[in-house]
Amino acid sequence: MSTTAAPFTATILGSPRIGPNRELKRAVEKYWARRIDRAELETVAATLRRDTWSSLVTAGLDSVPVNTFSYYDQMLDTAVLVGALPPRVAGVADDLDRYFAAARGNDEIAPLEMTKWFDTNYHYIVPEIGPRTTFALNPAKVLGELEEAAAQRVPARPVIVGPITFLALSKPVDDAGAPISRLDELVDVYAELLELSAGKGVTWVQLDEPVLVTDILPNAAELAERAYARLGASTKRPSLFVATYFGELTDALPALARTPVEAIGVDLVAGSGAAVAAVPELAEKLLVAGVVDGRNIWRTDLESAIDKLANVLKSAASVAVSTSCSTLHVPYTLDAEDGIDAALRSWLAFGSEKVGEVTTLARGLKDGREAISAEIAASNEAIASRKADPRLNNGEVRTRLAAIRASGATRGPADQRRAAQQDRLKLPALPTTTIGSYPQTTAIRVARADLRSGKIDAAEYERRMKAEIADVITLQEQLGLDVLVHGEPERNDMVQYFAEQLDGFFATQNGWVQSYGSRCVRPPILYGDVARPNPMTVDWITYAQSLTAKPVKGMLTGPVTILAWSFVRDDQPLADTADQVALAIRDETVDLQSAGIAIIQVDEPALRELLPLRSKDKEAYLRWAVDAFRLSTSGVADATQIHTHLCYSEFGEVIGAIADLDADVTSIEAARSHMEVLGDLNDAGFANSVGPGVYDIHSPRVPGVDEITASLREALKSVPAERLWVNPDCGLKTRATPEVTASLQHMVTAAAAVRSS
Ligand code: GLN
Ligand code: ZN
Repeated sequence: MSTTAAPFTATILGSPRIGPNRELKRAVEKYWARRIDRAELETVAATLRRDTWSSLVTAGLDSVPVNTFSYYDQMLDTAVLVGALPPRVAGVADDLDRYFAAARGNDEIAPLEMTKWFDTNYHYIVPEIGPRTTFALNPAKVLGELEEAAAQRVPARPVIVGPITFLALSKPVDDAGAPISRLDELVDVYAELLELSAGKGVTWVQLDEPVLVTDILPNAAELAERAYARLGASTKRPSLFVATYFGELTDALPALARTPVEAIGVDLVAGSGAAVAAVPELAEKLLVAGVVDGRNIWRTDLESAIDKLANVLKSAASVAVSTSCSTLHVPYTLDAEDGIDAALRSWLAFGSEKVGEVTTLARGLKDGREAISAEIAASNEAIASRKADPRLNNGEVRTRLAAIRASGATRGPADQRRAAQQDRLKLPALPTTTIGSYPQTTAIRVARADLRSGKIDAAEYERRMKAEIADVITLQEQLGLDVLVHGEPERNDMVQYFAEQLDGFFATQNGWVQSYGSRCVRPPILYGDVARPNPMTVDWITYAQSLTAKPVKGMLTGPVTILAWSFVRDDQPLADTADQVALAIRDETVDLQSAGIAIIQVDEPALRELLPLRSKDKEAYLRWAVDAFRLSTSGVADATQIHTHLCYSEFGEVIGAIADLDADVTSIEAARSHMEVLGDLNDAGFANSVGPGVYDIHSPRVPGVDEITASLREALKSVPAERLWVNPDCGLKTRATPEVTASLQHMVTAAAAVRSS
């Protein structure tokens, strides 16, 4: 057995790595473009690591996470660590280029898939485990960072994705069985790493096992006990800290506690920690208590956090204060924001402020509440100011919402709506359309930059956007599409655009958060009651409609997607906030209808994303998500056609909810799964119209007419012609005009061919 290291008292589970000013993003992208060499990239990376660590040490953490840096993603880093990159990248000689080839692909190599990290908006690279995968330790990155940290006298604690989570989130390939069946083999590799780390003087290692708070593995607790009993039994190893986050640890908590691991991390923001008191073995362990929210931006209620700490201290040998998860999911610092009013600022804590909260709480735990009474008073004051702020309680919104809910507003039955719409729109069978956005041209980007820098005024910006809209309408008329769109040139982002115009939201200046690889997003902060003071899209859409006799779809983002891609207030149930957003979107649909718009699309690409991690919570979520969508679309007449759009996910678990949205037309990503979703929708009893994407927009490849024709014939096996629409998989904003023009030309030709046959 190892000699147990002294317990630490204050830490975070991981930190952002993209750089306070997105330095890593810029450097990595330059490296990809071969505008800097590897040495220059590595210098940027090492500087970021050094600055991160030194600020954490200065702030007072006594254990600092390392190996949380990544050039792309921590799951991909772990695949490299355990020798599990797919054979198809093995031919790339340079290790860094091999890594990026796995992440992004190149001319010859298809990249690994990417998917959402639990219920966050971070995307990880999905490792592939096949019969040819042989695990072998490749510790260069971990050891390199440890050496750097040692040279800087950082009390370093390497963080590694744990073996259960790694395998549970990997995907089997080449007919291999479930990756988790290889757990014992993989655990041997981890044991080797532990021994090596102990030899380098490492005292603590953190193994991340968030999968233990989900229902992904039915026997998670048993696997945890087996894997950690084995790792704990290693003769030469550092002390082990198993971190869990994003939810409540149930039967896996006693299972872990029965193993020799020295520390267990629990998320006391997403979970209650109710199980802690019932696990006697914790009396021997360090409990790492995640009381500071690592994934939302609200300031911690110090008083209630210290209560939680005092409570778990009764059950554990010692308690360390921590964030609930890595602060990867929040922006670096509030210091970078100067546009926030003092009240709102006092309610917030970004990454570095959260570190301050952790050290304050650790001091309170050690020296007693009195030692941090000033901080507690400030926290209480902020909470009181938030409660009292009139922006959090818009009486008019609440009254209107209650009245609409009470009136039970719903639309007419689907067949009645279909008849009314067909009367009005007179569309051909297999109508052709697109999902909303057209290519973001250089002219659009220049106009946005010129407006921001003050080079042009709002009137000139509007003129340029209208020119873009006119071009896109002309293009669609030339192509012969049946239902047109305005192209969304005025939207930088489909959530931000609305957040900027709604009451109750605040858009940060520098609140960047990594979404995947070098891609960052700047989620708006939804802090108060939501209301729509003015129409948000009506001028653009009516302008587009004025240019054509064909119907132009109004284009809105749905309530669930707006919540999923924002930082959302935590002082009321999400369902209530969703309803307020829905009311705002509903107001917009009513105004679009009054302006003569006959078709309105309300996009919900993030419907799957907010699905709870535990099965028992899923139904309640889907109920309020569907209710919010229906509220947002129930204000219009039967003759106004409501569309929705879904993409980015496996629809399996939400297919019934998609049917329940009861949109008149649902466009849905389908090209990569070869129309499989249509059978699933039929099974769910869906009988409205559907537009399965007939080609994948994620690649620049132009699909042939025959290919699209074949897809449509495949679709017709599941959906009759009078209910089938023809459209791409998703919006076209990431593509270039020439390929979009050619692809849509082929799509229209294929639809005509199928119609006349
Ligand atoms: N209407 C949006 C667009 O076309 C939808 C984007 C999405 O589904 N993510 O860009
Ligand atoms: Zn989409």
